[in-house]
Amino acid sequence: MAAESEGGSSSTVQDFGNEFPVGFFECDCGKQALVRQAWTDANPGRRFYRCGAGWRSECNYFRWKDLEKPHGWQYKALLEARDIIKAQDAELKRLRETQAEGNRIYPVEVGLLEFQTKIEQLEKESIDLKSDLKASNEKEQTLREVLIISWIGFICVLATVVHAFK
Ligand SMILES: [Zn+2]
Repeated sequence: MAAESEGGSSSTVQDFGNEFPVGFFECDCGKQALVRQAWTDANPGRRFYRCGAGWRSECNYFRWKDLEKPHGWQYKALLEARDIIKAQDAELKRLRETQAEGNRIYPVEVGLLEFQTKIEQLEKESIDLKSDLKASNEKEQTLREVLIISWIGFICVLATVVHAFK
C-alpha cells in the first residue's frame, strides 16, 4: 500500500519518466506486480502491471507501466508488427496442422496400398480358380461324352447280337 501511494504521487511519476521500473508495485493482494504487455488496437506493445498471483487471480489490480500511450509512427509500426506476427503465427499453426495431418494420412495410405495389393492378389486367385474350374468342367464333359459314346456303342453291339440270335 505504501509503495502504491508513493508511485501515485505526481512528483514520483515524473522522476521515472515514461515508465515505472519492474517490481515497483505490489498488487492489492500483496504480491509484487508482474509486467505484461497489451496488444490491443489502442495500446499495441504498451506494458502494464498486473496481479503477481497470475491470470487466474481474482485480484483486478491494473496499472500502466508505460505511462505514455503509443502514438505517431511508432504506434503504426507496432500495430503492423503485431499483425505480421499474428499472420505468421497463423501460418505456422496451419503448417503444423498440415504436417500433423500428413503424418496421420501416411499410415492410412500405406494400409490402403496393402489392401489394394491384397485385392489384386485375390482377383488373380479367383481368375486362376475360374480357369481351373473351366478345365475340370471340360474334363468332365469329355468324360461324359466318352461314356455316352461307349454306351451307344454297347447298345448297338447288343442290338446286333440280339438281332443275330433271332
Ligand atoms: Zn493481486
